[in-house]
Amino acid sequence: MKITWPKICFACQVPLDVDIQFDDGDEEKYFDEFMDFFPTPTNLHYNVSAKRRFNDGKFHPMCRWCFDNHRKIWMDPRMLRDREIGKIKLGPPPPKGTTHEELALFASRVKGYIATRRRHGDVYF
Ligand SMILES: [Zn+2]
Repeated sequence: MKITWPKICFACQVPLDVDIQFDDGDEEKYFDEFMDFFPTPTNLHYNVSAKRRFNDGKFHPMCRWCFDNHRKIWMDPRMLRDREIGKIKLGPPPPKGTTHEELALFASRVKGYIATRRRHGDVYF
């Protein structure tokens, strides 16, 4: 099994467009069993890539969550004053997509399950 992602989010660094490739049909079958019986990342739909132009004039990939919750800094003297005195805080929203650690945990669990099923065959099912 091979999990790949071509790019990461420019704002929150979550992997984008996660793709899973299987070595053979057995592995795909065991993966489908795992998806039926065990918890999986439920927020993977945020890890879809979109592109937005940033302040450097270039387009960068973003995840869906950062794309929808992007706050552009507007030039308003009152806003600048509030930001300087710490009344409001401007910054990226906390990421909600599946992070690298969660994806690695999921992959290790799937690999362990596939190894167990390969060792024991179809005895338990
Ligand atoms: Zn993001």
